[in-house]
Amino acid sequence: MIKYRLICDKGHEFDAWFKGSATFEDQRNCGQLKCAVCGSRKIDRAVMAPALALSSGDLMTEEDREKRDMVEKLVDHVERDFDYVGEDFADEARKIHNGEARPREIYGEATLSEAQDLLTEGVPVAPLPKPPRKKD
Ligand SMILES: [Zn+2]
Repeated sequence: MIKYRLICDKGHEFDAWFKGSATFEDQRNCGQLKCAVCGSRKIDRAVMAPALALSSGDLMTEEDREKRDMVEKLVDHVERDFDYVGEDFADEARKIHNGEARPREIYGEATLSEAQDLLTEGVPVAPLPKPPRKKD
């Protein structure tokens, strides 16, 4: 059994259990799923944004500091060694993947749906834990 966080077209969120992801798809496609609040049958899985939570100030543990340092190092590394391509990120990542652009590591801005499309096409992309500084 897996638990999904669902959301209706009116924005009500609720949890439901399914035997598997296929069961969820079947039930949704047959209109068997219903919002517990308003009864809407337009149901989808709620998207959970990846997040990295760090405590701050004096309450920081040694482990928190290590995590924070790791994030800082990662972002520094990306800013130093990757090509910044700004809002062309999705296009450029796709071109590199397809061999239409010079192979290199890049970073930039992408919308959630652009990132999902890239992953669906097999282009390896990953979210950065904090937004990199923009370069001119
Ligand atoms: Zn609803």
